[in-house]
Amino acid sequence: MGTNETQTRTRSYYDQVQLLIQQSENQAAWTSILSNLFHMDNPFPNEQLFNEQCQVYYGKYQMENVAWTISLVLMSWVLRNFQRKMEDGHCHNTIHPHGETLPRNCDIGRQFHREMLKGILQSYRDIVALFDTPQTPTTTPNTVN
Ligand SMILES: [Zn+2]
Repeated sequence: MGTNETQTRTRSYYDQVQLLIQQSENQAAWTSILSNLFHMDNPFPNEQLFNEQCQVYYGKYQMENVAWTISLVLMSWVLRNFQRKMEDGHCHNTIHPHGETLPRNCDIGRQFHREMLKGILQSYRDIVALFDTPQTPTTTPNTVN
């Protein structure tokens, strides 16, 4: 499977996940979202989930894939949450010059949430960078005695 095809599949999956996130207007909705995630398919074709030689198979609903889906939802939720607050100029200080309802349009709040978003994005990039150049162990295989 080519890189473009993988990106297309993952992007399509991400869009499905976004539909679930849109239901998360309150905390009670998270229970329903997490329940739905446990029953959600993943974008990987079966041949990518199975290694015949090692007899290893990561079924679409096994913990590894469920954990990946949930991590995608949580990452996306927090990024979109801070992005929205940055765009709205989110602020609780009523003596700051801004509107009474959304968007508040507080410049200080906007800048604060821009920095929050930047920091969180960087934390994800830092984690991903740890895996950009995977190290191959040089140990010898275990032998059966
Ligand atoms: Zn403010």
